[in-house]
Amino acid sequence: MDEMSVAVFAAHQAGEGEGLRLTEICRMIPKPPPREGSLGFYFIPPYRVQGFSVAGEVTTIQVPELDVCFDMGQCPRAALASKYCAISHGHMDHVGGLAYYSSQRRFQGMGDARIVCDARIAPSIRRMMEGFIDLEQQTTPYELIELKENDQVEIKNNIFLRGFYTEHTAPSMGYAVIEKRSKLKPEYVDLPQEKLKELKDRGIEITRTLEIPLLAYLGDTQPCAALLRPEVLTAQIVICECTFFEPDHKERAKVGMHMHVDDVAEWLGVLQCQALVLCHVSRRTDLMFARKRLYEVAGQKAEKALFLMDYKAGKARYERQVIESGGTLERPGFRGGPGGGGGFRRGAPTRPNR
Ligand SMILES: [Zn+2]
Ligand SMILES: [Zn+2]
Repeated sequence: MDEMSVAVFAAHQAGEGEGLRLTEICRMIPKPPPREGSLGFYFIPPYRVQGFSVAGEVTTIQVPELDVCFDMGQCPRAALASKYCAISHGHMDHVGGLAYYSSQRRFQGMGDARIVCDARIAPSIRRMMEGFIDLEQQTTPYELIELKENDQVEIKNNIFLRGFYTEHTAPSMGYAVIEKRSKLKPEYVDLPQEKLKELKDRGIEITRTLEIPLLAYLGDTQPCAALLRPEVLTAQIVICECTFFEPDHKERAKVGMHMHVDDVAEWLGVLQCQALVLCHVSRRTDLMFARKRLYEVAGQKAEKALFLMDYKAGKARYERQVIESGGTLERPGFRGGPGGGGGFRRGAPTRPNR
């Protein structure tokens, strides 16, 4: 029984049930429940990066344009739209919503979930999903795609998800999303169509495959070789954790096998990305402080870092993008990202490199 029911019950027992005065009830009225947070949101043309991420509590980061969600600590409604869910490791804050995601996709008629994971944790994921068969007395079909180092799966036409090992306190995997484009080999570029056809008919390979790294998601990791993989260094967008910001928390970062702000600062020196989206900041860490610390250690290089859960910065950036694209903001406008009701009318296409 909650506080108010107890009071009403006590009053009733004392024979005051009928006479309980309105003012007394008003005094007992509890606060409404806290509003559930909106998704963190950034538009990094042409991709949206949206989701939740708080260290130890939840990480779910969706890139709608790529049909993929990275990790599923909880499953917000928007995440259901992603056909693929790539799991970085088995900690509860990264897999807690996985069974729900799979079951809801099925329930909503959105097709079977495709779960991508490190082959080392696949048996455990399967066992977790099996547990729900007993509980629910029904089976949720899903596809489990197991990757080993450098394995890849095609998630959209010519777009691949490649797995690579990272280093954390549990077996962990990061992912790169790579677009493969077929290009003529340089020696054939100037040849006329008929000549090319002739070469092709003779069985000569006239094209080569170009790999364009679109995005990299590192999950929970300590600084490791994966951070320097070419497809990570050259990805347009990099999403990575940064759990510790205090100068004297380096040891904690080491023990938990997480990134410290000093590691991120050093890495920023070699990352070529347009935007580094930082996630997995702890609830105790004030985001203003986090940004200040990053600028202290990384200087101007910190400019390309975006904190996923910084709603204010996300909102300001989005509104600037809308205005620059020739659209108009509808007041009250942005209410915390897509699904929040913040609409805008489009004008000219949004400028890239924002
Ligand atoms: Zn975590
Ligand atoms: Zn973890």
